Amino acid sequence: ELKINGLSKYYGSKQVLSDIHINVSNLQVLSLIGASGSGKSTLLRLIAGLEPYETGEIIVNGTGINQGDLSDYRKNVGFVFQDHNLFAHLSVLDNILLILDKVHHLNDSETRARVISLLKQFGLEEHMHKLPHQISGGQSQRASIVRALAIEPEIILLDEPTSSLDPVLTYEVLTAIKKLAENARDFIIVTHEIGFAKHIADYVIFMEDGKIIEHGSNAILDSPQTAQLKHFLDKVL
Ligand code: ATP
Ligand code: MG
Repeated sequence: ELKINGLSKYYGSKQVLSDIHINVSNLQVLSLIGASGSGKSTLLRLIAGLEPYETGEIIVNGTGINQGDLSDYRKNVGFVFQDHNLFAHLSVLDNILLILDKVHHLNDSETRARVISLLKQFGLEEHMHKLPHQISGGQSQRASIVRALAIEPEIILLDEPTSSLDPVLTYEVLTAIKKLAENARDFIIVTHEIGFAKHIADYVIFMEDGKIIEHGSNAILDSPQTAQLKHFLDKVL
């Protein structure tokens, strides 16, 4: 469940989100699309409870995301940032194990086995003992996806999870996400992969200049109702 009512967000005097309304009762896979600078990452960070906002409300699975104590909520949310920020002095594996240990108090052998199996699933078996600067952008992107999945959160927020992957890896990562979504995991994904959104998104939100211009089932990608979405799809496809 994602409910957003009258949400606005400013950076200084610049308004980056204006009067956002979303009401999706069954999240499954929700896709945020729109041009660069339209406010997608900002909206995702607010949903993650990482930043304050001025007006309106955000409710995720019954929890109001506002200024109160969100530490429990954040433990149930996996977040993959646009820049994958792994700790530079820790191996890929230790980056993941550290979060599980320090934030989620999971440090048993079962957890370790689960992480290693996820790393295998994302093609990182031979890279897990390397430091972040020793792996490629695509590998570090996949590592940050594994880190988010490893905590088995209720909801996973992904900001352009395939932006530095080649087409084959893009396909593999998106297929893995699709599989996880079938296991009743909820995702909110900022993506430029319109084909992917068409195939697996249950709900699509198109943003422009901090506003939601059009939203609905993924059918809006085949028959957009607004001139703006039409124009956007003409440009990206
Ligand atoms: P992209 O597709 O390029 O990632 P986006 O849709 O994710 O773009 P946002 O990152 O949400 O866009 O940015 C929306 C607007 O807010 C932009 O104009 C951006 O410059 C501005 N902005 C984002 N973060 C900050 C910040 N911390 N301080 C000031 N302005 C910001
Ligand atoms: Mg962004």
